[in-house]
Amino acid sequence: MLRLASLFLFTMAFLFWGCTSEKRMLQPVQQGNSISLSQIAQELSLSLTWNSAERKAYLQKDDYYAIVQLQNDIIWIRGEPHKMEFPAYLANKEVYVPISTYIQDLKALFAYQAKNVEESKEIQDLPEPLYKIEASIPKVSFINFSVLLDPGHGGKDTGAIAPNGLYEKNFNLDIANKVAQILKDKGAKVLMTRNNDSFPTLDQRVLIANQKKANCLVSIHLNNALNTKASGFEVWISTNSKAKHYSKSSMLARLIRSAFQKHSPLSDRGIRKGAFRVIHETHIPSVLVECCFLSNPKDLAWISTEEGK
Ligand SMILES: [Zn+2]
Repeated sequence: MLRLASLFLFTMAFLFWGCTSEKRMLQPVQQGNSISLSQIAQELSLSLTWNSAERKAYLQKDDYYAIVQLQNDIIWIRGEPHKMEFPAYLANKEVYVPISTYIQDLKALFAYQAKNVEESKEIQDLPEPLYKIEASIPKVSFINFSVLLDPGHGGKDTGAIAPNGLYEKNFNLDIANKVAQILKDKGAKVLMTRNNDSFPTLDQRVLIANQKKANCLVSIHLNNALNTKASGFEVWISTNSKAKHYSKSSMLARLIRSAFQKHSPLSDRGIRKGAFRVIHETHIPSVLVECCFLSNPKDLAWISTEEGK
């Protein structure tokens, strides 16, 4: 009898839960703050695949991907967890996510233009003197030159997680500390958005960049892909070619890229354009460097060495 009663109670609770959760899930559609994954795939030219066993959807373009699981409010973007305003839900046979996730997270990752900016006309059309400055920069002293280094992620935000369990956030900080020392030895003034395992938000990082008025910002990250063969380094600049500092950002990107070509054994994946907030909303020349792929064993082995860092 007792067992029957508890079974009944359980069934009622389940039904009740089912009703309320369905109501809660459908609400966002009425509020119009959701967008379907198929619409996102169409707008950003992504492939969309569905794994019904895991109830997961995969958005993909080149080596970049995002994973959404039904009823889960975490979206995995290149192996990094991002919290969504509400869980992904199913309506009319479509998977929906918050519009804020589309605008802040997915657009920033997938709305890049040329695969390699140097191939596009835009950069070839840069005025001649910029190339001359580039050639002369290595001889220029770093006295009175300030660099803001931004080690990606930190604190509760681990960034990508390597197959061996190591966190991207710690690699980023290690690399930033090494770069800071080299720059200081050359006489530059170095500022950091974080110098410990804290978590400045993207808003705070942008604010620091715009208040400190360093000569440039370099954001340091490691990449992650589903395809473990993906390998190499990338340098990212803003998609906003009308920004005042755009030509300086692209010049800085080319300098960093050529330094990587000289010193990194990994392949060159070129200069790319994306709307990452630390390079898109800052008012100083800004680049974001993906030093290698944590998801690739060869890349991971290299970045784990002192020399690699
Ligand atoms: Zn990262």
